[in-house]
Amino acid sequence: MSELRFDGQVVVVTGAGGGLGKAYALFFGSRGASVVVNDLGGSFKGEGNSTKAADVVVDEIKAAGGKAVANYDSVTNGDKIIQTAIDNYGRIDILLNNAGILRDISFKNMKDQDWDLIIDVHVKGSYKCARAAWPYFRKQKFGRVINTASAAGLFGSFGQCNYSAAKLAMVGFTETLAKEGAKYNIHANVIAPIAASRMTQTIMPPDVLENLKPDWVVPLVAVLTHKDCTETGSIYEVGGGHIAKLRWERSSGLLLKADDTYTPGAILKKWDKVSDYSDPEHPTGVADFMGLLEKSMKMGPNDK
Ligand code: NAD
Repeated sequence: MSELRFDGQVVVVTGAGGGLGKAYALFFGSRGASVVVNDLGGSFKGEGNSTKAADVVVDEIKAAGGKAVANYDSVTNGDKIIQTAIDNYGRIDILLNNAGILRDISFKNMKDQDWDLIIDVHVKGSYKCARAAWPYFRKQKFGRVINTASAAGLFGSFGQCNYSAAKLAMVGFTETLAKEGAKYNIHANVIAPIAASRMTQTIMPPDVLENLKPDWVVPLVAVLTHKDCTETGSIYEVGGGHIAKLRWERSSGLLLKADDTYTPGAILKKWDKVSDYSDPEHPTGVADFMGLLEKSMKMGPNDK
């Protein structure tokens, strides 16, 4: 099989100075793309800034014969990052919203600053970059977006209330971008990666980290962002060579007629039905729920 190539395309990778972002940037730089290597160069808690993180990666891509340019803005100024792509290469094809920080603290001790900073970098940062790229994607009828969620967002994680909220936001954001982008061949997918990086190096033992190289996340991102890939609006867990798709599952559910017989007691009487997953549905849009409501409105009192 011939290798996936990205010749002539322009890829913006946010937070590309280290960890996963660096692995993406090096990969796309080696497969023919021009890469905007964005990194603010601060600490993993979001303190400080430096040009070094992005510069090192740009130098590495160029030394290997690739094309890359650095950008040092925060993703909260995403329009400047996309402008770097336009100024240097005249286009933007692929956006990898990857930059991230942590402010882990129990909910009891969380301060507004811990909350605001995390929401700002992950949610507003991803929005700002995608928003600035969107008109170019629409005009050229091509765009690929990868947003970065986390298992912490999908399942919750002790001490990461802020991060969990921000990361699940990436799922809703992606689903809507996928729906709005469909007509214009703009695809958006979201990944919940797991990889050895400065974010995870203190919470996992070295032998586990050894098997979680950021490089093992890259191939999925390459597949999803390639021009021939039709996937959009999908959620993936990826890391250590494992890739799986996630989706919503709705129990077969309890459907009662919405009239004055619809009481707490009526729900309790048939509570088992609410969490009965023996005949599940996998909804993908609001319309699926509206269908249920219509069915409820047509029901007689003893239909279910
Ligand atoms: P990392 O700390 O190695 O890389 C994140 C990069 O983002 C850093 O280089 C940092 O300087 C940059 N950055 C931070 N704030 C920025 C800002 N405002 N503007 C521009 N750049 C900024 O961490 P990583 O593990 O490679 O994480 C990459 C992404 O994957 C993050 O969104 C993270 O939340 C997510 N993630 C990682 C894991 C994992 O196991 N490593 C798990 C789940 C999710």
